[in-house]
Amino acid sequence: MATTTTTTPPQAPSYPNQVTGMYILARALRLLGIDAMYGLVGIPVTDFAYLVQEEGIRFVGFRHEQQAGMAAATHGYLTRTPGVLLTVSSLGFLNGLTATANATVNCYPMIQISGSSEREPIDLNQGNYEALDQLSIAKPLVKAAYRVNRPEDIPTALVRAYRSAISGRPGGVYLDITTPCLGAVMDKAEADKLFFTPVDMCPSMPPAPEAVDRAMELIAGAKKPVILIGKGAAYACVEGQLKELVEKTGIPYLPMSMAKGVLPDGGPLSALSCRSTVMSQADVVVLAGARLNWLLSRGHGKWSPDTKFVQLDIAPEEIDCNRPIAAPVIGDLTSILNAMIERLPDYKMSMDPQWVPSLQAETKTKAVKFAERLDAAKSASPMNHWTALGAIKPVMDANPDVILVNEGANTLDDTRDTLEMTMPRHRIDCATWAIMGMGMGSAIGAAVATGKSVVAIEGDSAFGFSGMDFSTICRFKLPVTVVIFNNGGIYNGIGVNLSNNGDPAPTTLDVNARYDKLGEAFGAKSYYVTTPEELSAALTEAIASKAPAMIDVQLAADSGKESGHIGYLNPESLQHITV
Ligand code: ADP
Ligand code: MG
Repeated sequence: MATTTTTTPPQAPSYPNQVTGMYILARALRLLGIDAMYGLVGIPVTDFAYLVQEEGIRFVGFRHEQQAGMAAATHGYLTRTPGVLLTVSSLGFLNGLTATANATVNCYPMIQISGSSEREPIDLNQGNYEALDQLSIAKPLVKAAYRVNRPEDIPTALVRAYRSAISGRPGGVYLDITTPCLGAVMDKAEADKLFFTPVDMCPSMPPAPEAVDRAMELIAGAKKPVILIGKGAAYACVEGQLKELVEKTGIPYLPMSMAKGVLPDGGPLSALSCRSTVMSQADVVVLAGARLNWLLSRGHGKWSPDTKFVQLDIAPEEIDCNRPIAAPVIGDLTSILNAMIERLPDYKMSMDPQWVPSLQAETKTKAVKFAERLDAAKSASPMNHWTALGAIKPVMDANPDVILVNEGANTLDDTRDTLEMTMPRHRIDCATWAIMGMGMGSAIGAAVATGKSVVAIEGDSAFGFSGMDFSTICRFKLPVTVVIFNNGGIYNGIGVNLSNNGDPAPTTLDVNARYDKLGEAFGAKSYYVTTPEELSAALTEAIASKAPAMIDVQLAADSGKESGHIGYLNPESLQHITV
């Protein structure tokens, strides 16, 4: 019988009065207040991760770098400090970079730190272990990218990365640290002199007073104004200012997906269910941390050509990008909204007295129709998306402080429509790129960053991209419940293979897959549910447990349509393939 042996964890070289680049990096992170790092170790960063833990920084080790990156991005979004991702060279770097690029597109602050192999053989293309010119690859996809070759440059490089990630328009930053730099040895006394406390890492950027006046003028003269709240406002934590502005002016508001809950979805001035009416009828729309991108038809489509826009944003280059903006106000949202509120007493609103009541009447009618839809789905067996959401809604309503992570196609669209949010920054989803594969990472980042419970509502296809990192939820014993809507496919499980060769269709997955067994494999409390009653009981128990849980929700294979609400984005000639 083999005797039990204990293995010593790898240790960074220890010299009496000397330290390595890795030590300097770990120290510098700690001194900047970084308290969590997400990543996946290997050559050349394994020892560094040990040092990170030794510094008292929480290291959350993942199964796939992309998910670690999604976690870092979500951490950044929820804390307004950079989430930090650690990757190994070459493929690990590339896997992580997808999340850093996605963070940049979404304006989430994060720093990807990657080990990279020594420069000389890369530059001469001589074929070295995991050789890749990582800095050049990262550059076009991130807000800023830096390489550190010397240990004495590490503290400065990290401060620059930190500033780039959170100041101005937030985004992803890449920090390339070469293997020789990580291992380079310095006198500790010299190294300690390198650290400094940076001043004002995210300076406030007050708007020009004349820009505020121009905007106020337009708003005050509007007959049918609306404030369109984006996730930039959620990020900026301006719910207090927006509440005051809305209450003092009586202007209704419409949230973008992740801005749901900045002001309550169900509030009397919420125009959440009147999107088309707002687009076609509002004469002045205030974009508060929202971009006029594809999610808003780039300012065309249903929008009235006469609508005038006021845009409150930190990024001047955003203005006029799709449609002329009548009143741009550039600055940070806190300063902008404070300035607007301060100027309010000087303006008299001229809102049409029928505008709000007409939106409220429409909201009422739509709410009745929606309730009827959920009601009609109650008895469907097997369940469809609406049956399941009808069961989930009261449970989520009873747990308003649970953070919702949501991805999929129909699962995304229908969940967004069904679940009302009452608290800011409690909804994290596929966001600007409408990507799949953010679920487990985002759920982990949200749980670690906030300590709150998380429910991730996932399409079965969406879950597949990140499913293995359910094991990370379990290893770190996070209060995350994963709910999988299993309809056996991408969009649905009834795709047809046009060749009849017996293979599944491109959209077909497995409607009989038992995801609850996957949960069990990692020790989570797991449920397989086939009725709304079972689902509601399982979700209630799972949230209350504050422990990892997995709920496999059995749906009908024909529940859900191709591409959910955005099927119109497909080339028309392809639309016949799935039913
Ligand atoms: P949504 O998808 O909800 O419309 P976007 O990510 O498209 O949100 O837009 C967010 C906008 O908010 C971006 O244009 C970004 O520059 C802006 N933004 C982010 N942080 C701030 C801030 N602190 N102050 C002002 N604008 C901000
Ligand atoms: Mg599906």
